[in-house]
Amino acid sequence: MKNIVVLGAGLGGVIMAYEMKEKVGSTANVTVINEGSTYSFVPSNPWVAVGWRDRDDISVELEPVFSRRDIALKPQGAKKVHPEENRVELNDGEMVDYDYLIIATGPDLAFDEIEGLGPQACTESICHIDHAMDAKQSFEKLVEKPGPAIIGAVQGASCYGPAYEFAFIVDTALRRAKKRDQVPMTFVTPEPYIGHLGLDGVGDTKSLLESALRDQHIKWITNARVNRVEEGVMHVEEVNEDGSLKKAHELPFSFSMMLPAFRGVSAVSGIEGLTNPRGFITIDKHQRNGKYPNVFAIGVCVAIPPVGETPLPVGVPKTGFMIESMVTATAENVSALIKGDEPRAVATWNAICLADFGDKGIAFVAQPQLPPRNVNWSSQGRWVHAAKIGFEKYFLRKVRSGKSETFYENLALDVLGIKKLKEIHMEDAG
Ligand code: FAD
Repeated sequence: MKNIVVLGAGLGGVIMAYEMKEKVGSTANVTVINEGSTYSFVPSNPWVAVGWRDRDDISVELEPVFSRRDIALKPQGAKKVHPEENRVELNDGEMVDYDYLIIATGPDLAFDEIEGLGPQACTESICHIDHAMDAKQSFEKLVEKPGPAIIGAVQGASCYGPAYEFAFIVDTALRRAKKRDQVPMTFVTPEPYIGHLGLDGVGDTKSLLESALRDQHIKWITNARVNRVEEGVMHVEEVNEDGSLKKAHELPFSFSMMLPAFRGVSAVSGIEGLTNPRGFITIDKHQRNGKYPNVFAIGVCVAIPPVGETPLPVGVPKTGFMIESMVTATAENVSALIKGDEPRAVATWNAICLADFGDKGIAFVAQPQLPPRNVNWSSQGRWVHAAKIGFEKYFLRKVRSGKSETFYENLALDVLGIKKLKEIHMEDAG
């Protein structure tokens, strides 16, 4: 029996395990290594941070579902991958051997790259459920004692949708608490323009997001490099096209949430041929590593080059729908290898994002990621808020049931009028 190991049980890893098990049935073992045994739906963290969701609403205990599906779980976490030996060393010293390894470890959050950044220092985060729970306490303090708020992302970040989303959610929550008039808000971002999103804009995201920020009285600073943060003050340099200093800002704040830059987790980074200098897994179009052909990667941990030159580093987002297409392609390819075939499936890697504002929202679809595109679409309305709730409910049901169905995603794409975005192209399929 072949041993397939999935490293990481986040948004990508859990459905990877389900799809893989469904493909191989009893002909191979599927083992998941994770840090802990609880799954938590990251896209709902912005709602947690303003008290619209609780931890339990968006968490799933994996052990019972996995055992029903005959998937083994190792909750100790991985210390290091040893690809030369085809094994993973766990934090308690146990070694797990594999024939195929699928890495789905998500991001390591690089707060330490900027002095004073992050939940251990002066700013909040919504990247992890624990951070979002802490942010909720700080948000409650803001409501009690209003003052300026700064929300955004730092240089090198690759996840801008949630930053905009959180700014609008905070705005909505403050309006509902009748405190918005006492909270001047600023959106701070390294993007060269509002709505760039790491994708050089999608459809009309520039106008849509500028207009939404203006409507909600949120000021913004683009091309912004955060130099350091101290209690209550953020030191930001706004740069010109050529990277030279345009203006230095000292921004006071009572509440701030800044998304950090991402890098690869220590269990995989620094392994020659497996990762790039930032610790992201290098893969080919089949999601497969070049040096270690029995190693695949999906989700935020994969290396994707930026879409173009920008004055400050701006990374490319990896969203849920895109990750799903990586999962399906990888399940196809690993099972092809087990059957003695060559991997042929290529994920479409479309960027699809629903940015919720708490009552309405903005949606965009970029296919492919790099412009010029076949689909370059953005829109707004109340339906986006409803669709985001649908995404959450459907995804959590999928994780709880252990079934890897794509019904909701397909339905959502049909509603958007865009067919077969998640289609897996089979090369040379005869
Ligand atoms: P993760 O979900 O982060 O999972 C990684 C897993 O690996 C975790 O369980 C972690 O514990 C585990 N792990 C890490 N290191 C180890 C180790 N050494 N050993 C064992 N396990 C390990 N996308 C959307 O499409 N829609 C959204 O609305 C959306 N909202 C987002 C909001 C926020 C705040 C953020 C940060 C991202 C959002 N995204 C959204 C983007 C993306 O879908 C999520 O980041 C998603 O969770 C990424 O999935 P992943 O599987 O790559 O990583």
